[in-house]
Amino acid sequence: MEKKFNMEKKHTESIKNSGKVLITTSIAYVNSAPHIGYALELAQADLFARALRAQRDKVYFLTGTDENGLKNYQTAKEQNLSPQDFVDKNSAQFLQLTQDLEISNDNFIRTSSDDHHRIAQEFWQKLSDTGDIYPKEYQGLYCVGCEAFVLSRDLVDGHCPHHQKAPEKVKEINYFFRLGKYKNQIYELIKSDAVKIFPVEKKSELLNIIKDAEDVSFSRSSDKLPWGVAVPASQEDSKVKEFKGSIKQIMYVWCDALVNYISGLPGKSIDEKVNFWQTQDKIIHFVGKDILRFHGLIWLGMLLSTGLKLPSEIRVHGFITQKGQKISKSFGNTVDPLEYIKKYGADAVRFYLLHIIPEYGDSDWSEERFREVYNSLLANELGNLAQRSITLIGKSQIPKSKFQNNYNNQNPKIQTLPQIWLQIKQLNAQISEEKIWESQTPKNKIVQLYQDLYAIADSLTIYLPQTAQEIRTQLSTFAPTPIFPRIN
Ligand SMILES: [Zn+2]
Repeated sequence: MEKKFNMEKKHTESIKNSGKVLITTSIAYVNSAPHIGYALELAQADLFARALRAQRDKVYFLTGTDENGLKNYQTAKEQNLSPQDFVDKNSAQFLQLTQDLEISNDNFIRTSSDDHHRIAQEFWQKLSDTGDIYPKEYQGLYCVGCEAFVLSRDLVDGHCPHHQKAPEKVKEINYFFRLGKYKNQIYELIKSDAVKIFPVEKKSELLNIIKDAEDVSFSRSSDKLPWGVAVPASQEDSKVKEFKGSIKQIMYVWCDALVNYISGLPGKSIDEKVNFWQTQDKIIHFVGKDILRFHGLIWLGMLLSTGLKLPSEIRVHGFITQKGQKISKSFGNTVDPLEYIKKYGADAVRFYLLHIIPEYGDSDWSEERFREVYNSLLANELGNLAQRSITLIGKSQIPKSKFQNNYNNQNPKIQTLPQIWLQIKQLNAQISEEKIWESQTPKNKIVQLYQDLYAIADSLTIYLPQTAQEIRTQLSTFAPTPIFPRIN
């Protein structure tokens, strides 16, 4: 029985012409190899970047890797590597993924780079200059796996539910950021959609969290966190000195990882980068549902404190699960996107991520389903249409000069995948019903077929860039070769 495919999805429907647009993914934590959930975020952001560029927007698309933190330090040690060698090795796989998945990013920021360290320190200094950073004793339960303090109410039988490990009790002087000062302002910004959260259910969740926001711990002593960005001049702070002697403070993830959205921008100095940020007409962050609160709360607080522009949108995708369980290295159920690309091609993976996986909410992954979708929609529908049309055009003996595409790419209309698939189905049906392969077929029908297929290829460009190019090439050579050969 043919399963009902999700034809209601409208990824591109909210894409509007906007001028200068900054698009970001979250930076991937390089503690393990890339998994399919990260490929989903890349594909979603890439689609927006390509669609906006197609509408003549000036897009800057930033992605990269989060390379600091205790977990990287510990895993490097386990593997007998220096932390830098370890993050170099793992970051390279994420870079590879962006290339293999045809991601059109303009920059790939790495937070272990000297440039990022310098910008993060200068950003910290700006927060400190406004009086929003102060030292205070912190005590709490800390899960090494989460790299975060956890609340006892979130534990299951005293264990972190994500890592099945008991958190450590931690007590130390570190720096805090005055997030509480901004919570009412942030609440209003989210509530009024000044910073718009997609989907709307995530907006309600975020509003509930903001109400309880308190000042947030922003650093760790270097013995807790030996791998990261040093807090500028923390050794001179008398209160920190008193408590920990000369042990310096390292930035906790917030002012390190979140600042990648500035450090990854064009320019050398922080002023140039900040100026680039400030002159964007629209800023769109793509994030997973587990880090919405960091973006929709802490990052907004940091931007308010420094007087910078706020993001226009935060788009929140769900998790990809396997048999209902979260995909994670510790569960041994990872799905390697690089392997799928090798096996089925970049566009088959992009298609599954953009057409079958819902834009929001969780969704289950199975290779069996992936292969079904590949055969039914890519091989039987798109592949078959391209193959039979190009064969007919080639055999028609109409001179090549008669074939011209009338596609208007000055002002292209973005079509959704369901819309494009409807055209593919209709064209396939029309070829069969009108028996276009028969010799008495009027020549103008063949020319029309050429134009229709050309238009489909153009609409597909933002979703399946390699396939679109391949169809256009075959339409110029009249040499059909299967674009999605059936798999058995
Ligand atoms: Zn944990």
